[in-house]
Amino acid sequence: MSKAEIVSCEPATGAEIWRGKPCDVDDAVSRARRAWPAWAAQPLSTRMELVRRFANEVRKEAEKLATTIARETGKPLWEAHAEVELVINKVEISIRGYAERTSQRKLDSALQGTMAVRHKPHGVLAVLGPYNYPAHLPNAHIVPALIAGNVVIFKPSEKAPASGEILARCFNRAGISAAIMQFAVGGPAEGQALVAHEGVDGVLFTGSANTGIAINRRLATRPDKMVALEMGGNNAMVVWDTPKLTDAATLAVQSAFATTGQRCTATRRLIVKSSMYDALVSEVKALSDRLIFGAPFDDPAPFMGPVIDNMAADGLTESFLYLLSHGGKAIKHLVRPDESLPFLSPAIIDTTAMKDRPDVELFGPILQVIRVEDFDEAIAETNNTRFGLAASLVGGTPQEYNKFWANARAGIVNWNRATVNPSHAAPVGGIGLSGNHRPTGYYAADYCAYPVASGEMEQPRAMIGVGLKQA
Ligand code: NAD
Repeated sequence: MSKAEIVSCEPATGAEIWRGKPCDVDDAVSRARRAWPAWAAQPLSTRMELVRRFANEVRKEAEKLATTIARETGKPLWEAHAEVELVINKVEISIRGYAERTSQRKLDSALQGTMAVRHKPHGVLAVLGPYNYPAHLPNAHIVPALIAGNVVIFKPSEKAPASGEILARCFNRAGISAAIMQFAVGGPAEGQALVAHEGVDGVLFTGSANTGIAINRRLATRPDKMVALEMGGNNAMVVWDTPKLTDAATLAVQSAFATTGQRCTATRRLIVKSSMYDALVSEVKALSDRLIFGAPFDDPAPFMGPVIDNMAADGLTESFLYLLSHGGKAIKHLVRPDESLPFLSPAIIDTTAMKDRPDVELFGPILQVIRVEDFDEAIAETNNTRFGLAASLVGGTPQEYNKFWANARAGIVNWNRATVNPSHAAPVGGIGLSGNHRPTGYYAADYCAYPVASGEMEQPRAMIGVGLKQA
């Protein structure tokens, strides 16, 4: 039986943008395995030169790639352009990351002679991408993996294959062949097959916690496989004493509603000191009321587009109703102007009084507000989640920030900054359900190669010093 085609549609219009057959996973893996030895044997300088050429190819295709990302994800065109810039910038960050984190070292020891430390690639790596940043986030795995000497099978999200295809072509046009950086379309079934395949040496994943856990479970008996998991968050922003109310409100709105809340680092819970609550929440609401949500190419440009599809919009609507019917108080209702399309307005709901707030990632424009009385309560509330991706303190003293930094359980802890837009020049990753301690960004070099220790001497030289009978 032939497999069902993958079809990708524009969220803003419902129009089809891409259609194609899912890959044959066995074929993809055997092609990759054949290509790997020659790629790994290339000098590092050649691999670096080729990824720099890739950056140039992306520059040439910037307009087409941005337009396709905007159409396929629904994000505004200006934001799709920013994503393309992130793709380009990733190349130099990865080159620096590889050089600094996997540099060769020689250690001289009187006992053991010279000890060399060098790194080797894992082999064939499967990169499984999400839909919200369909070029930048897979690319954040692909570029460091290639530099380190791995070959890559890139399976884009089934919701964004068109963007992934342009990205893949840029690699291929740069001289990195379609066997070294392979584009392999598919959905969860192909993802599962890649994860389980004997010929795949590692899985570099960005997506939801549920999928990440399924991958981890599948590979629980395979310690030989590299698994890097970048997953979701239920991130908190704490607003404490600050005279800069408008700035605080702006940080909250940007963090909650950029990309229509479809960012792993989006602020989901705004934790506010009681004495600031009324003033801050009214600023947050007033600013949210002014946000334009619309189609990616609208003029004037929207702040945010639709969510990815009608199923996601239905799920978010249900979640908002759940919060409302379990003690949440709406500050700004979730509105869906046209039931046939996944446009949602920004929504704000006070969930302070809810007894058991569901600790799930609501991947859309829903911001929960929680009122607290003291700083310890704010920190406890920040950590009141199994996730641990991003947390920000806005306002407060340096001493309070130190306390927040020391106690907030997250891989990204900021002061007076948004939770979103993490710098890929730094590690990007989380703890708890947000990741498995293999951050991407600058640190991606760590999971793309393994260190090899080698005691080395030009000639064998050895003696047994004790426990020998007289010759
Ligand atoms: P998803 O988990 O649904 O899918 C991600 C990828 O995994 C897709 O390519 C999909 O086909 C594949 N997949 C699905 N089921 C699989 C399985 N059982 N085995 C193997 N592969 C499988 O994620 P999504 O909805 O595309 O992306 C949104 C999620 O990604 C959100 O949870 C968001 O927080 C997270 N995310 C995390 C980061 C980060 O850096 N931590 C960044 C962006 C997005």
